[in-house]
Amino acid sequence: MSLKINHDHVVTIHYTLTNSQGEVLDSSEGGGPLTYLHGAGNIIPGLEEALSGKISGDSFKASIQPEQGYGPHYPQLVQILPRSAFGDTQSLEVGMEFTAQGADGELRRVGISAINGDQITIDGNHPLAGEVLHFNVTVENVRAATTEEKDHGHVHGPGGHHH
Ligand code: ZN
Repeated sequence: MSLKINHDHVVTIHYTLTNSQGEVLDSSEGGGPLTYLHGAGNIIPGLEEALSGKISGDSFKASIQPEQGYGPHYPQLVQILPRSAFGDTQSLEVGMEFTAQGADGELRRVGISAINGDQITIDGNHPLAGEVLHFNVTVENVRAATTEEKDHGHVHGPGGHHH
């Protein structure tokens, strides 16, 4: 009997993620399948919901709105700073990431999203914020989580934590 994916199952999937332009953003091809603990918030909510009730061997597509993915893109998290604000960092490049303190005092990850001469645009949004995510998923395996995995909220062993 095949397990239907539900809370406290350890699920292994192969997936390809594309954006609305059809560009591949991420894929398990090459890097091996993704193994996660279902119901523990290990993956984005929209994908977890789409996987609920599926069994090993199922293949499906799911389009996930930003609210169920990496959230909306907040324009107030985008800032243009002069190059001099970066101290002696000579080799600034689009895509570089660092940690910055926001107005709320909270540390957040920001990335350089554009460079225009001495004007550096930094963006504190997740790189996939505001994107509709198109997943192509195949379920490789479903098993019950161990008590320890449930306690820890993540998977142990192949594809998971080793400790
Ligand atoms: Zn653990």
